[in-house]
Amino acid sequence: MSDSTLDTLHKSLDVIKILRCNMTGFFQLVGAGFRIDGTETDSQEDREKATRAVLIAETQKLKDNFTELEQAVLSLSHPAGPFNLGNTLYVNQEVAPDRVPLYTQLVDSYKWMEKVHEYSGTAYPVLSQNSLKRTYFNASISAKRRRSLVNSYIVAPEAVNSAIMGFSNSFNDIDIQILRPLGSNAVLNIILGRTLRSVAILKGWLIEWVVIRGFNEDMTKEDGTLNLWSESKYKVFQKVTDNANAAMLHFCAPTHPELSVKSFLTWLHSYITLFTQPCKKCGLHLSNNLPPTWRDLRTLDPYHEECKP
Ligand SMILES: [Zn+2]
Repeated sequence: MSDSTLDTLHKSLDVIKILRCNMTGFFQLVGAGFRIDGTETDSQEDREKATRAVLIAETQKLKDNFTELEQAVLSLSHPAGPFNLGNTLYVNQEVAPDRVPLYTQLVDSYKWMEKVHEYSGTAYPVLSQNSLKRTYFNASISAKRRRSLVNSYIVAPEAVNSAIMGFSNSFNDIDIQILRPLGSNAVLNIILGRTLRSVAILKGWLIEWVVIRGFNEDMTKEDGTLNLWSESKYKVFQKVTDNANAAMLHFCAPTHPELSVKSFLTWLHSYITLFTQPCKKCGLHLSNNLPPTWRDLRTLDPYHEECKP
């Protein structure tokens, strides 16, 4: 609703208030047995005349108020009528509409859904330009491309094991434990020196989920199984998790799936110096009470979030 419409609406409400006030005054006047106090010498005719004059003045005032209200209302635009809420309307059928404010809530959620719809409509063309397709659920994908993507999902567990172990052994400060609690897909429990711990879930060769936690944080749940989902309680590792999720998308290469996982792990390994290496740009260890939580995806140089090149 525009500002001018709101102004008119406020003005109309004010005019209604004045009209009501004057109307009440008028009825009180008439109801109380209205008479004009004149002098003894005034004739009956003069008194009636005076009374009539006062009444005419009062009704004229009401008439003016009413005209003013009419004009204000006329300048308002017509509302589009009640929202068509589709089947959700039936939710409110059993209760008195005045008792439960369901209609307004439904209209709110309806508007919210409309907005989501509108935004997703705008986002879709932007995102569809992105060549970074990680799933095979796209109907328009060509048969050839689909095959290559499916191939990165279907991979022998032994191949994953040997490649990951080979990577793990090439560094002496990273320890990767491979678990398969979700069937054939590997879950990597990564311990990076004494700096951080991480859980990465693979689907074939595709990294589906990464979470980074502090070295002192518990990686297992109460029942002894690996805690896959909950985020770190520390801001620094929450930031690193965000960056790891971005990196996981960046390194995703459906045509070279094994390489994408190795690139990601190499990038993650650079966090071994999270608390010891200063920011490449400002040269400081801490900025906003945080160490450099972002690593360049190519050079692996450390930067603060606000110092990113
Ligand atoms: Zn910096």
